[in-house]
Amino acid sequence: MLNLTTLTGAARVAGVMGWPVSHSKSPMLHRTWLTRYGIDGAYVPLAVAPQNLADAVRGLPALGFSGANVTIPHKEAVVAMMDRLTPTAARLGAVNTIIIEPDRSLLGDNTDGFGFIENLKSDPAGWTGRGGHAVVLGAGGAARAICAALIDEGMNRISVINRSRDKAVRIAADFGSVIEPRPWTETDLSFALKSADLLVNTTALGMIGQPDLSVDMALLPDHATVTDIVYNPLQTAFLMDAAARGLRVVDGLGMLLHQGRPGFRAWFGLDPEVTDEVRTAVLGGS
Ligand code: NAP
Repeated sequence: MLNLTTLTGAARVAGVMGWPVSHSKSPMLHRTWLTRYGIDGAYVPLAVAPQNLADAVRGLPALGFSGANVTIPHKEAVVAMMDRLTPTAARLGAVNTIIIEPDRSLLGDNTDGFGFIENLKSDPAGWTGRGGHAVVLGAGGAARAICAALIDEGMNRISVINRSRDKAVRIAADFGSVIEPRPWTETDLSFALKSADLLVNTTALGMIGQPDLSVDMALLPDHATVTDIVYNPLQTAFLMDAAARGLRVVDGLGMLLHQGRPGFRAWFGLDPEVTDEVRTAVLGGS
């Protein structure tokens, strides 16, 4: 996939730092775009152990990198290593995209929420979130990014339901009264689902190797949209249950693809398109 014959000495270089990093779909995503647009650039996996993170981040400008993505487990630790943060990264306390500025300083951004919203908006049925009620299952890093983005999109009520209620309470403390933290009980779930315009799974449930997530989709209003940010497998039991109930469903792959766009634009100079070809390459790629 990486066409080394077209790389010159002036190639722009970016990568993804994680530990482990071999599971990351980002190299396939960015290489598909680089090839599609014929860009003199490369995107590489960077296996960086936690104890080497500071050295690796400091080394990016020294090596002439344009920037990097940051994935598990480094998203929070890398914040203190940035020279500047975008307002979104500062608000979330997590960075998934590093941009090396012309003066070699490090700008940290977080594009997970952008990716989530763009994925919903690119749904053919046309999602508009203004003023509705979202139910977010889970309260981890992805849930924080999604809650912030949903607030910015004008949702006026967001129920955050998590196994460990303290994390949901923390999101409410950080983001304000639009967030309603709830424990994961049948009563709390039923109460929230009955008026949900949007239901989001941000837990790890449904991922390969994890138990399925089972929710009573009959409780949701007919117009509700259901989305899962788990994309491995693409069609989770959660989404299949929602589709069987006749609800609009949006899978999680698009979030991954769209969150990559701001980094690609900063490093390689154009806003890349999320197309079926890109989806297929990332789904099948290695
Ligand atoms: P995280 O910070 O570790 O949070 C994990 C969340 O899942 C927590 O709310 C946790 O609840 C919950 N959870 C885990 N196991 C559970 C179980 N057995 N029962 C109930 N809840 C459970 O992880 P994250 O970064 O937010 O990522 C969450 C998921 O989203 C992962 O599957 C990840 O691959 C996916 N993701 C997808 C994208 C995308 O682009 N599509 C982007 C980011 C993440 P507790 O707080 O109670 O532990």
